[in-house]
Amino acid sequence: MSGWPVMPKELFGRVKYISTRGTAPELTFDEVLLAGLARDGGLYLPKSWPQFSHQTIKSFKDKPFADVAAQIMAPFVGDYLTEAELKVMCQEAYAEFGSDAVTPLVPLGDELWALELFHGPTLAFKDVAMQFLARAMDHVLAKVGRRATIVGATSGDTGGAAIEAFRHSNRVDMVILFPEARVSDVQRRMMTTPGEENVHAVAIEGNFDDCQALVKAMFNDHAFRDDVHLSGVNSINWARIMAQITYYFVASVALGGPEKELSFAVPTGNFGDIFAGWAAKQMGLPIKQLIIASNSNNILPRALDSGRYEMRGVSATSSPSMDIQISSNFERYLFEASGRDANIVVKAMKDLARDGQFELGSLHAGMRRDFSAFWASEDDVADAIRSVKAETDYVLDPHTACGYVAAKRWKKQNAAPIVVLATAHPAKFPDALEQITGVRPGLPERLASLLTDEERIPKLPNDLAEVQAFIRAHRAGASA
Ligand SMILES: *Cc1c(COP(=O)(O)O)cnc(C)c1O
Repeated sequence: MSGWPVMPKELFGRVKYISTRGTAPELTFDEVLLAGLARDGGLYLPKSWPQFSHQTIKSFKDKPFADVAAQIMAPFVGDYLTEAELKVMCQEAYAEFGSDAVTPLVPLGDELWALELFHGPTLAFKDVAMQFLARAMDHVLAKVGRRATIVGATSGDTGGAAIEAFRHSNRVDMVILFPEARVSDVQRRMMTTPGEENVHAVAIEGNFDDCQALVKAMFNDHAFRDDVHLSGVNSINWARIMAQITYYFVASVALGGPEKELSFAVPTGNFGDIFAGWAAKQMGLPIKQLIIASNSNNILPRALDSGRYEMRGVSATSSPSMDIQISSNFERYLFEASGRDANIVVKAMKDLARDGQFELGSLHAGMRRDFSAFWASEDDVADAIRSVKAETDYVLDPHTACGYVAAKRWKKQNAAPIVVLATAHPAKFPDALEQITGVRPGLPERLASLLTDEERIPKLPNDLAEVQAFIRAHRAGASA
């Protein structure tokens, strides 16, 4: 895998993005940043993957996180932002993280590590991308001199990370939809306690997929979309994926890469985080295997086994951010796996919408090479949390525990080094942890007032027109 050519600098300015459904216009980075979903319903991807040579990857060792992040993102951004501007943006984005390393590694056993991605303001990995994204979006909006309305759906963690990242923006109005009663108290309070007038979290009478469907419907309503300058920060937004590619490189060089080849077990919901790992591999990072870790909502492990991607009901688990049946970013992988054949993607998505399933067909064998997949039952999660605590005194959150279970199962057949992405801090799920371990994990000091601060929780039915009316009424200038 070494010796990839580095993308020539003069090509940077021309980086273009194409849609997985093949008919939306090609866009530049700044346009993709604001567009979210493509107008043909697809997701944007760079026209080609930048390549990092063995030598370049080696040079990342011992550099500050922000510097490496800027270097990795520079070729995707083109000449829109210089590497120096990117570096400043990253330094600001990660300055408040509770660890100097930003994403530290913790050994959990023999050739097994946790990559702690939860040191940001809302204690989940989504802060890593969102803190960067807010700064990049404000930069773009300032340049074009306008505001944007960001709507998003959250299964728990995206909403808090988004609201926390954008609450101080003076260019963005934000409305986040969350499934009523499906998020933890801490997750909800992170969304409902910020008092700024430009950020709103709305409880929807439905599940996460309903919330996500409402957001997609708003993007497909082009009149509404243009009227409110709609923009998205869900993991369908390319910049989220881009900012998550960074820590695969950082973790790898910290553990002996690029000479040493690592595998990653990734707690997976919307397939964004693991797709970022897949992208890192395309860019030249030596990765042995990417392991999809699911909870009992196991559509991806079933698809890998059977070759059929088939929706079933969503059940509530102790890892709510993975309680998903439609993994939006899987579409990006389908596009890549098919050799970028938009027709295959369009057909699969049509079948999914009509029948609730599609066949992987000719893509099945490739998926089995590109990924392994395992899922953890609620008992598996509890057992993993208890045994890791007993052996190492380390407390896994339930999402990370799914990753740990997957890593252990994979390791049984592969005696190779592996990193589990620790996607949330255990204090984010105190009820589940108390039930499993008997001990209630405490929040870090900086979040001490979270549980007593006043909440705002507007509630709406699962109804597109009502949600759109709420958004129109709550944009800056509309209500004041
Ligand atoms: C969002 C989230 C996931 C799933 O990540 P995807 O990119 O949606 O696959 C896993 N764990 C936690 C804690 C999360 O917040």
